Amino acid sequence: MCAVVGVFNVKNASKVAYYALFAMQHRGQEATGISASDGSTIRTRKRKGLVTEVFMDEENFDYLKGSMAIGHNRYSTAGSKSVVDAQPIMANYKLGQISIAHNGNLINKNEIREKLINEGAIFQSEMDTENLIHLIARSQKPTLQERIIEALEDIKGAYCFVIQSRKKMFAIRDKYGVRPLSLGKFPNGGYIVASETCAFDLVGADFVRDVRPGEMLIFEKGKEPESIQLYESEPRPCAFEYIYFARPDSVIDGKNVYEKRLEMGKRLAQENPVEADIVLPVPDSGVAAALGYARESGIPFENGIVRNHYVGRTFIEPIQEMRDLKVRLKLSPIKEVIKGKRVVIIDDSLVRGTTSKQIVKMLKDAGAKEVHMKLASPQIKHPCKYGIDTPSYEELISANMSDEEIREYIGADSLSFLSIEGLKESLGHDRNYSLVSFDGEYFIC
Ligand code: AMP
Repeated sequence: MCAVVGVFNVKNASKVAYYALFAMQHRGQEATGISASDGSTIRTRKRKGLVTEVFMDEENFDYLKGSMAIGHNRYSTAGSKSVVDAQPIMANYKLGQISIAHNGNLINKNEIREKLINEGAIFQSEMDTENLIHLIARSQKPTLQERIIEALEDIKGAYCFVIQSRKKMFAIRDKYGVRPLSLGKFPNGGYIVASETCAFDLVGADFVRDVRPGEMLIFEKGKEPESIQLYESEPRPCAFEYIYFARPDSVIDGKNVYEKRLEMGKRLAQENPVEADIVLPVPDSGVAAALGYARESGIPFENGIVRNHYVGRTFIEPIQEMRDLKVRLKLSPIKEVIKGKRVVIIDDSLVRGTTSKQIVKMLKDAGAKEVHMKLASPQIKHPCKYGIDTPSYEELISANMSDEEIREYIGADSLSFLSIEGLKESLGHDRNYSLVSFDGEYFIC
């Protein structure tokens, strides 16, 4: 999972991209980067670290000059964690300089990579995104636009690409619209595309619309953005964006993330009532769902767990030992709230079970009489191949244990999940969603 941004025809575009990336820091904390074009040269700065760390020095923005910029926050789902795997990826090819930022996961990356290597291509990174650069460079079409379109024909997966040449910018969303991408406009002209609308709010852009699944937007100076519908398909936006990934203030495909989470909590309460004294959220991921649960059940909501905001997301370090430590560093109970109470504790999802196990122990240690663990999403039984970091069956606790076994493992008095039907109801029946993690229906293959 990652964040992408593209800023077009805006003074100091790299600085606007920087703020947009800052607003979308939650989508990836491993590395960040910005490429900017002043019309004659594209320049890139990228490095491991948080947006504010990497671009701490004002000098970066003097270097990244120009009115067009693209940017990326990395959360590795493909490739390694080395700095060469930071994005945007820049290259020189026959038609000049090009830079690409990508959010998603290309499922046929290995076949394409192998084919390209057999034909003599030299790869500089482990990233699936580099495939696209090679395909564009090898295309014999006369324009970049045609080359991108041809290259995309070879690529399968869930993706949003933001691509820039020295003078143009392209934004593309895959045909199912699995990953979010929105278009915004600045009051005095200029455009922005970003993975989440929370980026627009920070930089003062007005939301225009979502980029349509299968759509390519082309930005060129002196023109309104041109839209080409490359593919037609039934949209399948990712349910996990609403459950966990996106920021609550973002609106994805017309639906506010916070409201959807409230709804999931409400349905969780309808499906899984329990006698209890307080409802606690796992901060911050379970807050909206816990509020929805509390409102529906009438059980008082309490902020009984304090989160230390100076620790990154627990998942972000993909090493098990680190993850365990980070949960403890991150969350601490308010004993005065919890002692002697029957507690309902709500989180958005159960992946490996690490967080829940530690939280249940933490609550019991703080004196909770009963701990009822409730998840505002269904059991994650299948790895997502479309860009969410739930990599293998072995690591997914619900793929390996029954609910009762998990309850015992995490030490809770009861354990329940939102049903798939309940999730669908919460999101609305106006469209189908990508539910691969829950139902294993891999619709892109
Ligand atoms: P676990 O401890 O492995 O069961 O992970 C569950 C916790 O990780 C929950 O608090 C979720 O909010 C969070 N989470 C769920 N999915 C992801 C993901 N793809 N990346 C990072 N964190 C996640």
